[in-house]
Amino acid sequence: MSARILNGNAIRDQIYGELQSEIRALAAEGIRPGLAAVLVGENPASKLYLNSKIGACGKLDLASFLLTPPASIDTAELLALIAQLNTRDDVDGILVQMPLPLQIDAKKILDAVDPAKDVDGFHPVNVGKLVAGRPSLVACTPAGVMEILRRSDIPISGANAVVMGRSDIVGKPMALLLLHASATVTVCHSKTRDMKGISRRADIVVAAMGRAAMITEDFIRPGATVIDVGQNVVTDRAEAERIFANFPEKLASFATKGSVLVGDVHPDVMRTAGAFTPVPGGVGPLTIAMLMSNTVRAARQRRSSAGKASRAVPV
Ligand code: NAP
Repeated sequence: MSARILNGNAIRDQIYGELQSEIRALAAEGIRPGLAAVLVGENPASKLYLNSKIGACGKLDLASFLLTPPASIDTAELLALIAQLNTRDDVDGILVQMPLPLQIDAKKILDAVDPAKDVDGFHPVNVGKLVAGRPSLVACTPAGVMEILRRSDIPISGANAVVMGRSDIVGKPMALLLLHASATVTVCHSKTRDMKGISRRADIVVAAMGRAAMITEDFIRPGATVIDVGQNVVTDRAEAERIFANFPEKLASFATKGSVLVGDVHPDVMRTAGAFTPVPGGVGPLTIAMLMSNTVRAARQRRSSAGKASRAVPV
């Protein structure tokens, strides 16, 4: 069986096309959505990731503001910075790049972001709305997975879906989104017994554990849809050779770069799955696309609720 590749880059481009029309319509009303990104310190991986988010803003003609406080900043100072961003009218979305230095109370910082500007969907108010089935700003990666499934016409209602991983940013919101789309959802984690048996009954498998190539063909029912959220950098040659034994081009790239990006799903799974997302080029591009989408959505929602509030004021 040869699996259908669910191409995240193509779906991202489709979403960008739709967002561009929406952004043009907002521009006609004099509105330019703006995203403020806060990067504390000099973490090179965070910097790289944030640059691609800022780059996407440029591509879509959204305003972006990069704030780079030093690694020595304390919680009170960072809270003051967030408070400022909350009140700025040109800022519709605020994201605080994780991880934060150890002296910072990360929970306090995330809770301080105005829920209306919480484009990462991490604020308890937005998490609560998601649980209640009244989503406004939803965590970007799981929201992106739903776009992949829906735009690829993968049936969700009534499907058995297995989510591997229960993190606040991926696994839990993923399970809730699938549940709201009427899938029968099982959430697996490190204490789950017989994950293989559970997984083999699934029509849809979403792997989000951060375990390189752990999900092998024997986890997958033939024909199932496999969504690989994992992004693991493998630098060990023997491990790379074991994972990519059937993929000489990947081994050639490893030989040049000294590392290779591997999902949580073993690449041989493409022989068993009905459809799958590759790594790279699957879920990754959707995460940034949904961040852009949330920023545009936040801009529209904030303006419309401001409009309602001003209409409610008696004249
Ligand atoms: P995380 O916070 O470390 O959570 C990992 C989850 O997987 C935990 O719930 C953990 O269980 C579970 N787990 C770990 N090992 C397991 C095992 N052997 N069997 C079953 N469950 C296991 O990770 P995360 O932030 O959710 O990220 C997960 C992966 O997605 C990472 O590779 C990350 O890089 C990637 N990611 C990709 C994107 C993207 O844009 N593509 C975005 C975000 C994350 P316990 O709760 O029991 O510990």
